[in-house]
Amino acid sequence: MTAVKRGTWLFIIVLGVLTAITCEFTTQLTYLHVASHVAILSAAHFALVHPPEELLDGPGLTLFDLFTILYNSRQYGFVEYAAKRVAFFHVFVASYPAMISFYFVHGSLFMKGTGSRFPELLDHPWLWLTTLGCSVIGSIIYCIFIKDYEQWPIYQYYRDHPEALTEVQEVITSPETFRIKFSQRTLLLVTRDFFVYSSNWKFVAVRMADVRLQVDNTRMPNIPDENEGLRYILIKVSFRPAYIPPFTLSLRQDYYRQLNDILEVPIFVPPHINVPLTIMEELKEDFVQKISTNTRYTHRVKRTEKDPCFACGTEENIVKLEKSCTGQEPRAIFHNLGLRLTPPCESCSCTPLWCSGCIAQIFITKQNVDNVNRYEYDRGTAQCPTCRKNFCIRDVHFVDFDYIVEETD
Ligand SMILES: [Zn+2]
Ligand SMILES: [Zn+2]
Ligand SMILES: [Zn+2]
Repeated sequence: MTAVKRGTWLFIIVLGVLTAITCEFTTQLTYLHVASHVAILSAAHFALVHPPEELLDGPGLTLFDLFTILYNSRQYGFVEYAAKRVAFFHVFVASYPAMISFYFVHGSLFMKGTGSRFPELLDHPWLWLTTLGCSVIGSIIYCIFIKDYEQWPIYQYYRDHPEALTEVQEVITSPETFRIKFSQRTLLLVTRDFFVYSSNWKFVAVRMADVRLQVDNTRMPNIPDENEGLRYILIKVSFRPAYIPPFTLSLRQDYYRQLNDILEVPIFVPPHINVPLTIMEELKEDFVQKISTNTRYTHRVKRTEKDPCFACGTEENIVKLEKSCTGQEPRAIFHNLGLRLTPPCESCSCTPLWCSGCIAQIFITKQNVDNVNRYEYDRGTAQCPTCRKNFCIRDVHFVDFDYIVEETD
């Protein structure tokens, strides 16, 4: 594979150089031309850095691939290799001004005839040449500066804990290590004793005792159906030596649970954040959110006759079942046993009120909730706990109380 990648990159580079030196421009560009060229070059530059994975990863055309061709991971220790990679990416991004000014210098250089290549405002060959010179020198200085990774703040850690350098080698090769691949190029490796994170932009490999993990927030996936709608947990990763900068990890909920299982000290959840730990808890939350968009039911009752939830007897009774669906709503059809149409809803005329938690539990338990169809759970029906009539999620209403004035003696 590396040989193929090497061939591809060699071909691209040779082709690029050949194209660049055999150009012959004769016509002047308009501002629109120049703008679109610069846009294309910029897009290409940053697509190499942040590649649309499916598109460029397969053929091995990412900057990471180029990096692996230039540097063989077997020749370096993990920390050295990860540092080289981070430096490589930073230098590449820093070379952007050089690339843009090269475009202008190249255009002026290969213009045939007497006219100029660029429209008036941009036609300053010497200025572009100076910019190119300065940005190339700037990139080189930056490269020399950043290359010396032993000067990076993180490296202080390996001076303080030299044994971590050998430990990390064991962690990355051990089959026992828990691994999460966030993207093709971003990895999290965790054991009971060690924490490793490596991406194109940063790396950390420290002993677990020096890491603090704390839930920062949770968010729903950007694309609703992505990964079956699993929630993401944002985790703030901070370190005991303060010279290692903290960062935030975005972990899918199933990974969050798995990671928590491995850690000796579980990830700290601040009291104001609710991380649903089970599928049931998560669906309950979703259920309550869904029924809150249904119409509300006004319940007339004497203040003294207000009962708690009929099912659990403790929570405030705030939910009423009343058929209000039209029967045209999408229904769950496929269940484990094959084709089964969920039964139509019937009118329940029971007087008891329920709490949202109990009805959510009753409803969700009735569905075939597993990893495959749990995000269709809301298309099912369940039975009213008292009259056994069917209801769907549209028939569950939050209650507004209208208190009847009580007669006083
Ligand atoms: Zn209840
Ligand atoms: Zn009923
Ligand atoms: Zn219904």
